[in-house]
Amino acid sequence: AIVLGIETSCDETAAALVRADRQVLSAPLFSQLAEHAPYGGVVPEIAARAHVEKLDLLVAEAMAAVGIGFADLAGVAATAGPGLIGGVMVGLLTAKTIALVNDLPLVAVNHLEAHALTARFVAPELDFPYLLLLVSGGHCQLVAVEGVGRYRQLGTTIDDALGEAFDKVAKMLGLGYPGGPAVEALAAEGDPERFPLPRPLIGTKGCDFSFSGLKTAVRHQILALGREAGREATMRDLCASFQAAVGDVLVDRAARAMRSFRADHPDGRTLVLAGGVAANRYLRQRLEAAAAGLGFRLVAPPLALCTDNAVMVAWAGIERLRLASVNDQAVPARARWPLEELTPP
Ligand code: ATP
Ligand code: MG
Ligand code: FE
Repeated sequence: AIVLGIETSCDETAAALVRADRQVLSAPLFSQLAEHAPYGGVVPEIAARAHVEKLDLLVAEAMAAVGIGFADLAGVAATAGPGLIGGVMVGLLTAKTIALVNDLPLVAVNHLEAHALTARFVAPELDFPYLLLLVSGGHCQLVAVEGVGRYRQLGTTIDDALGEAFDKVAKMLGLGYPGGPAVEALAAEGDPERFPLPRPLIGTKGCDFSFSGLKTAVRHQILALGREAGREATMRDLCASFQAAVGDVLVDRAARAMRSFRADHPDGRTLVLAGGVAANRYLRQRLEAAAAGLGFRLVAPPLALCTDNAVMVAWAGIERLRLASVNDQAVPARARWPLEELTPP
């Protein structure tokens, strides 16, 4: 059974043909980076137009690469939110049309559920429940994943998402958008102890996060440094110090969540990383060590499946179709659609 997945919620246009046995048959992806770069961030109107221009071509490319027609599909899955509403509408409408014309089942996928279930795509033996740390451009959450459509939030950010914090720090340093990979590359060569930065909420009760104070502390540091802040060696140390602070925060919060999760689910011993920031090698290592210390194993998708892609959307579609969870043509595109609002099939 082959499912077509479509992703258009932010600034990547992507299509994927994935088989229920986890074989990726084709997965063309167009990143709109160049379109948004001059503005230092994603411009929703530009994103929506670029999705319109590229999506049909990508779908046709995926189908041609595999040499099948729509009638050969077992279903069509598209991100229906949360995300930039113009882009989400483009992807969902395309999926609706293909489903309607070819009489195929349609799955309106929650983009966060797609990130959350990617671990089951890469680790076939991974059963529910597991603990999820979702760190992306729009989110920073710790979630108990108890099944498809069954999510219990243990903690979330009270201000900025983590990817947003990486992007803002990168912007302050003139590193361009998206900032995460650039900050990681500089940090790898820097001194993480040169600049003392706060570790917001560390040691406090609960599993919430806060990153706006950390971001502001970086800004103050840059202002205090003046022209010195623009030197390559200084930027490396700033990035390393920022990333180390983030690592300490994630480890502290994830450790609390693992203890609480273990109390509720004595057999749940897996920490899953997901979302674009999960592509960060330093943070992966820190969380792997923290997990091991508490008897958890870490499952983190390969880097290309951490950032936005259509393979994860097709896979979420496969998981839903298996449970006969399909949508009709009236299903709406949603700008906001938290995981906790999902219901089990
Ligand atoms: P959401 O999934 O919450 O809707 P999104 O889809 O825009 O948001 P993703 O594509 O999952 O977000 O992740 C993009 C974010 O990941 C960006 O903020 C980017 O800077 C960050 N990111 C990507 N690679 C890295 C990295 N190596 N280190 C840190 N951050 C990274
Ligand atoms: Mg993106
Ligand atoms: Fe995402």
